[in-house]
Amino acid sequence: MTLQDNLRKAEAWLARFREQGVQNHIGGNAVPAVDGSTFESISPVDLKPLAQVAHGKAADIDRAAKAAKAAFPAWAAMDGDARKKLLHRVADAIVARAEEIAFIECMDTGQALKFMSKAALRGAENFRFFADRAPEARDGRALRGPGQFNFTTRVPIGPVGIITPWNTPFMLSTWKIAPALAAGCTIVHKPAEFSPLTASLLLEIAEEAGLPKGVWNLVNGLGETAGKALTEHPDIKAIGFVGESRTGSMIMAQGAPTLKRVHFELGGKNPVIVFADADLERAADAAVFMIYSLNGERCTSSSRLLVEESIYDKFVEMVAEKAKRIPIGHPLDPNTVIGPLVHPVHEKKVVSYFDIAREEGATIVTGGEKIVDGEFGKGCYVRPTLFANARNDMRIAREEIFGPVLTAIPFKDEAEALALSNDVQYGLAGYLWTSDLTRALRFTDGLDAGMIWVNSENVRHLPTPFGGVKNSGIGRDGGDWSFDFYMETKNIALATGRHSITKLGG
Ligand code: NAD
Repeated sequence: MTLQDNLRKAEAWLARFREQGVQNHIGGNAVPAVDGSTFESISPVDLKPLAQVAHGKAADIDRAAKAAKAAFPAWAAMDGDARKKLLHRVADAIVARAEEIAFIECMDTGQALKFMSKAALRGAENFRFFADRAPEARDGRALRGPGQFNFTTRVPIGPVGIITPWNTPFMLSTWKIAPALAAGCTIVHKPAEFSPLTASLLLEIAEEAGLPKGVWNLVNGLGETAGKALTEHPDIKAIGFVGESRTGSMIMAQGAPTLKRVHFELGGKNPVIVFADADLERAADAAVFMIYSLNGERCTSSSRLLVEESIYDKFVEMVAEKAKRIPIGHPLDPNTVIGPLVHPVHEKKVVSYFDIAREEGATIVTGGEKIVDGEFGKGCYVRPTLFANARNDMRIAREEIFGPVLTAIPFKDEAEALALSNDVQYGLAGYLWTSDLTRALRFTDGLDAGMIWVNSENVRHLPTPFGGVKNSGIGRDGGDWSFDFYMETKNIALATGRHSITKLGG
């Protein structure tokens, strides 16, 4: 398949969005915003409009929350096996339309097809994983106590709000929505305004697969209006949020009056720590993959490269050589690794760090510029960038840039490596490269991170917990952890005999 073939296919799939726009979806019906307003979604490839999107606000959220509330009792009461079958049907339907999803996602987000075709399939896997666990979701434990026999059970918490970011929006939405549905919750989803297209496709797929009307509702809109209203709505019992740390903090405040349960997957400035005794070729490949794949727009990207002093120059050179060879291009070109960043607003932020790096006195080893010429036209393209000779107190080492931008910092010894790793506000992921097992155990024990990969790139295994510490998040997803969030645990204590009951008042 050539780029031209892919563009023709994409246009055919995008036509409906161009013609009909993206609607909200409430109670099983595609509906415009209550006030009839829309906002425009553009493609970062050429900044041209893709669709007019329903601009939902508090009134739309209220309708969606009421629909989710009305659908809750029947959905919560559905037998786990029936829910399992239904969610597998959703997964099958995602697989059947994986190519369409991937192509639309590429045009909406700028992510390369190379990665997006897998992301659509991973979305289906998320549904299968939680579908298989739906029958046992309510099971609890048996706890014997003196004179009492306790058993615990779990029940779905109620209608929940899911708020997702613009990076890999399809996959991330499934990651949050599949466990909520499997647990028996109904949903109001507010996708990100920069990349709203595949959220409506996903819901359409789910309802065509048989999901009852009103179980899953979608309201498009901005964070400060639709998102805020969702977090404040009294019928919404919990908010599963993926996005920036400062938004998480706002959501916590907004949800406080209604005592919302919150689950936050937030930002990161994740270190990849490379000791001199590591397999350097593999470490360099993994470091390059983890920062430059998905345009560096991933929460677990290895955006800080901490390298032992004795190999620092050599390793930085290895990474730079690989980064320079990464193909940049149209997201639908099968050879492209790096496509345009999601939106001009985000591109401006990423590009601003090139100047910040210069001002702070770091060296730009490669990249450090927006691509303005020729075939890239007006799109949001930046070159994969490597900053060296950086210090941990520089902004380029402390702030989440969220683009294909890596900051390399030398360290003297293990103690300094650990101190530098932990000296940021974030603690999502860490990547450690060493052949010394004892050091790996010691280091991972001290590292502030919710997820650590040793001599490995980021390979997700769905039963394992996913989430961050410090400003990178609250709570864990994956395995049974997701169900703990979307469900309430109840304990029932049964007396096994006639224990003495203190008589008050005679
Ligand atoms: P963002 O926080 O700006 O927006 C995320 C979502 O929150 C959007 O839907 C937005 O409309 C909504 N929102 C904004 N303000 C809101 C408010 N006051 N109330 C309710 N909702 C509001 O994040 P983004 O720029 O879309 O995404 C990038 C961020 O997401 C990065 O920080 C990245 O690290 C993070 N992220 C984290 C993970 C993880 O698992 N830890 C995964 C992916 C992305």
